[in-house]
Parts: sequence; C-alpha cells; structure tokens
Amino acid sequence: MRKPLIAGNWKMYKNNNEALELVRELAPLVADLDDVEVAVCPPFTALADVSRLIADSGSSIALGAQDVYPGDEGAFTGEISPPMLKALAVTYVIAGHSERRELMGEKDGFVATKVRAVLDAGMTPILCVGETLEEREAGNAARKVEGQLAADLEAVEAAEVAGMVIAYEPIWAIGTGKTATPDDAQGMNSAIRRWIAASFGDDTAASVRILYGGSVKPGNAAELMALEDIDGALVGGASLKAADFAAIAGFKA
Ligand code: PEP
Repeated sequence: MRKPLIAGNWKMYKNNNEALELVRELAPLVADLDDVEVAVCPPFTALADVSRLIADSGSSIALGAQDVYPGDEGAFTGEISPPMLKALAVTYVIAGHSERRELMGEKDGFVATKVRAVLDAGMTPILCVGETLEEREAGNAARKVEGQLAADLEAVEAAEVAGMVIAYEPIWAIGTGKTATPDDAQGMNSAIRRWIAASFGDDTAASVRILYGGSVKPGNAAELMALEDIDGALVGGASLKAADFAAIAGFKA
C-alpha cells in the first residue's frame, strides 16, 4: 500500500522567520492526518530552523530540500551537499525540477548524479519529470518523460527505485493555473508506472510513489488524488498558505 505524499515546494519564497511562521501555522492543521505524509521543502536558508522547530514541536511534517549538489564536500562555491542536508534531518530532496532544468540548464546526466548522491546519503529523491506544451501538442509527451526516466535513473537499482518518489509535472501546468485533466494526469502517471515495471520489475512499480504536480489547489486535489496511479502531489504556489496546503493534504480526511 503506497502512502500518499503531499510535498510543498516553497521555491524562492519565505525568509527564515516567515518559514517558521508557516510551519507553526501548518503543523496543527495536519497533525491528525495519519494516512497521508506531509512534507515541506523550504529554501536552504530556513532548513536548519525549520528542522529544529519540527523536532521540538513533535510534528510529523517531513523536511525536504529543493535541490542539492552531487558531491560530499569540496570547492563548489554556493552549493550544498547531501551530507549537509542529511545532518539537518532532511528526508526528501527534489531533483530535476523543471525550473532548474529550464532556468539553470541542468541536463539529465547531472540530474542522474544528484539522484545517486541523494540515495547514497540515505535520503529520498523526489525526481521531477515532465513535458513542455510543445512536446505534448506534438504527441511527444510520453517519449519525453520516458527519456528523462531512463537517463535520470540510470545509476539506480530496482530496490532503490521502489523507495523513491517520482513527480510528474507537466511544465505547462506549473505556476500557470492550468491543471492537467484527470485523464492526462492518470494517463501519464500510469505510463510512468508501466515504464518502471518494464525497466525495474512489477514489485518496484507497485511500490514507487508517483506524484502529480502542476497547479494543484484545494479545489482540484481530491479529484486528482482519487486517481489510481496518483500517489500524492508536489505543490508549489498553494503550499505557501497553511490553510490551502492543509486542505490539499486533507483531501481524504
Ligand atoms: C512546482 O513547482 O513543483 C509546482 C507544481 O508549482 P505549482 O503548484 O505552483 O504549479
């Protein structure tokens, strides 16, 4: 049985104090949600204090990071290593978000090294994949996503994939207010699961959690989360308001 994960990607929003305030507001709202895992991914600058707040308050909110550099330590100015995140009790690390692929030029080979490095440090990657509008309209969405999966999971064993999280995020639906239709979202998530089954085996495919991301809001979460191959959501904009994010996380409650 796959426990749904609702993860908030705060992007470059919330300074340290604002991040603490948001977690203080969110924690009681999600405290009783036993059948859903809730995670927040604040900016790096807030991770240490948010981690301490979660631990001190006994909240079950999991902590995630939005990115990582694939090296343990070294002369990589401005970068953050997997062991540094692990030391802050980070559980999840987003890898290959489309904003990093598009704005920072990150390629699949680099994303693959991040996925490997996160696993080596004992954390769980949330690997983001998704197509552009042009690729979807040209009928190339599945090919694009499967190509990303093949490249980004190249150095990963089946048992590791089983514990991973994959987020299908159509690029045209991120931050645009446009959500994939339930048919499109379920269609791609099930295509991803079939690809995982063919590449890593049926047991792995049955275990891996596949999220949907792209303008998920309180008003559309329940419909999306009810779909067979959608095991939760990666939420951007709506994760910045405690009430909205809690309403998304409580889709079943
Ligand atoms: C995201 O950034 O991963 C995302 C899904 O953003 P939004 O929910 O704002 O579309």
